Amino acid sequence: MSHYLLPDGNVQIAFSGGRTSAYMLHEILEANGGLPEKAKIVFANTGREMPQTLDFVYEVSEQWSAPIVWLEYVKERPFFKVVDHATANKTGKPFDEMLEKRKVLPNVKMRFCTSDLKIRPAERYLRAEGWKQWTNFVGIRFDEAHRQSLKTQGNSLYSWTRSYPLIDAKISKHDVAMFWKSQNFDLQMENLNGSNIYGNCDGCFCKSEQKLAELIREYPERAKWWLDKEEEYAHRGTYGRWSQKQSRKALHDFVDRQGDWIFDAKNDVLCQADDGECGMAEDEE
Ligand code: SF4
Repeated sequence: MSHYLLPDGNVQIAFSGGRTSAYMLHEILEANGGLPEKAKIVFANTGREMPQTLDFVYEVSEQWSAPIVWLEYVKERPFFKVVDHATANKTGKPFDEMLEKRKVLPNVKMRFCTSDLKIRPAERYLRAEGWKQWTNFVGIRFDEAHRQSLKTQGNSLYSWTRSYPLIDAKISKHDVAMFWKSQNFDLQMENLNGSNIYGNCDGCFCKSEQKLAELIREYPERAKWWLDKEEEYAHRGTYGRWSQKQSRKALHDFVDRQGDWIFDAKNDVLCQADDGECGMAEDEE
């Protein structure tokens, strides 16, 4: 039996705007002959996504006739709003509003941004649609299976469990890359060993020093948003920094002072290790 056949009851299909979750969506649409009424595809925009990601979400929807619900966090009730490709924020407003409310910056140990900006807006939206129990299909591949969580979320009024069809189907980075080679459209960002430097939030604190330095070099105005937030929240001490390892100011200064030689991987100056992935945070709070 196909791993992509939807179970009984309502199903949320989480779409991050990346190639892997788009691949999962494609397989679900194929296996179920389109999108069944009981299913909703949900994309949550943090406002720090690259424009290419937003264009890709739109194109997936158009190319595959798949209605995608675009959500954004707002700081007032109901704490989410429905947007679309044209009205989606592109300057970080949902993230800003969340920080105003939380009054501290998230970091790898306190990744509340995933939950506040992505998981809870989707949950609130689905509850507002009258859903009480549902299955959440999540696009995590076999090679990253350690990220899965099978815990049921919610309370006695509503609850949801996750399903990981790509893990069950043993889908790897290579399979996803091959799939996109055969399509007539793609995410307009480079696929580097199965990962995308600028995927998810552009300057996410989970990204390696190398990726953040690339952002500073290639998109200085986008990197500045993350720098400005650290300056705005500096009075919170430890909770006013994205990372305990290094401030963004120190990284900006380093990139400014050094030449392009630091970007040469063989010089091994910038750390290339990521601190996890967005999407793990819900069980860590
Ligand atoms: S991509 Fe990073 S900064 Fe953005 S919501 Fe996820 S963990 Fe937070």
